[in-house]
Amino acid sequence: MKLLTAIQQRLGYKLFLSYLVIVIVGVVALAGTAKFHAPAALLHHVAIMESLLGDNPTLAADLRDSFLAAVNEILTVAAATASLAALITSSFVAQRIIGPIRQLMLASQRIAAGEFHERVQVSSEDELGALAQTFNRMATTLEQTEQRRLELIGDVAHELRTPLSSIKSIMEGLVDGVLPAEPATYVDVQREVARLQRLIYDLQELSRAEAGQIPLDLRSTSPTKLIHIAADRLHPQFKDKNVGLHFDLPADIPTVWADADRIIQVLLNLLGNALQYTPSGGKVTVKSWCEGREVVVAVQDSGIGISPEHLPYIFDRFYRVDKSRSRASGGSGIGLTIAKHIVEAHGGRIRAESRGSNQGSTFTFTLPQAP
Ligand code: ADP
Repeated sequence: MKLLTAIQQRLGYKLFLSYLVIVIVGVVALAGTAKFHAPAALLHHVAIMESLLGDNPTLAADLRDSFLAAVNEILTVAAATASLAALITSSFVAQRIIGPIRQLMLASQRIAAGEFHERVQVSSEDELGALAQTFNRMATTLEQTEQRRLELIGDVAHELRTPLSSIKSIMEGLVDGVLPAEPATYVDVQREVARLQRLIYDLQELSRAEAGQIPLDLRSTSPTKLIHIAADRLHPQFKDKNVGLHFDLPADIPTVWADADRIIQVLLNLLGNALQYTPSGGKVTVKSWCEGREVVVAVQDSGIGISPEHLPYIFDRFYRVDKSRSRASGGSGIGLTIAKHIVEAHGGRIRAESRGSNQGSTFTFTLPQAP
């Protein structure tokens, strides 16, 4: 029973047994053939020898028995040799096949235990080598996902800490009587609560975007119309801050294949940022043009710009060039990450350009033309 369980659980034993079965079948076939065919063949050859030896029945019988004994002996030795060969071959093959499989098994156990840096050696180009490569790729993805998860938890905790400590200190001030119980104090609390609310909304959007779960209602849409809708919504803020809003939109821009609400969300983010990072008296221009089968939309501002060392990270979540300044203004550093996911979900690309500090910035994204 124990042996049966061991065989069921060990690929090495199974391989050895399969070789042994092949040898046994071969030996049985050989023995069967010898048993049924050998006597006739022997008798034929012995008859020839008998005719050469002359009329001697005892000698002929001895000759026949010796021949049969020789054949049996040869078969026994052959069966033993074949079994030994099967044992050696199977242990060699088992080592070649089972070695990498065991490595994979141990590595997957370690990954399951949380050791995401675990990798296996790729030592062949066959299916086992391909399996090892796929396994390593899977381990890398898992490691990156885990890394992102840890970063996200750290980032979220960090983002929550600031408004919560503000609320805590205001409340302590109120309880201790250091702060006056008047509307201005409560407005401060209200502002921090609004920041928390926005952060939670952004996080929900981000998690849906990163999971590729933003549903898109794709239709043929005029990009110019979407630009004007977004611009109209922000028009009062532009006016209040005295930042000029200009358009360079040719009349013959083709329609795009897009979800209008989502693209308005992207435009609101880009225009909102342009307004936020452009000082009073500056200007923001929205341009659009056609490039091949795509429509390009650019939001250009004359604001504080982005220095080259920050540009590569500008679409990373929670990335803010000036942490204190944008946090003070309620920015969570998630807007551009969500914008990037939305544009890419449409099959487009988004990029940021700036000639450096105080040189203004240009955010450009593409959308596919409607079919
Ligand atoms: P936030 O909510 O902080 O604005 P975003 O993801 O929209 O988050 O932007 C990330 C960071 O990119 C901002 O904190 C800011 O530092 C920088 N940024 C975005 N747009 C501009 C711009 N037009 N000019 C200068 N810096 C910008």
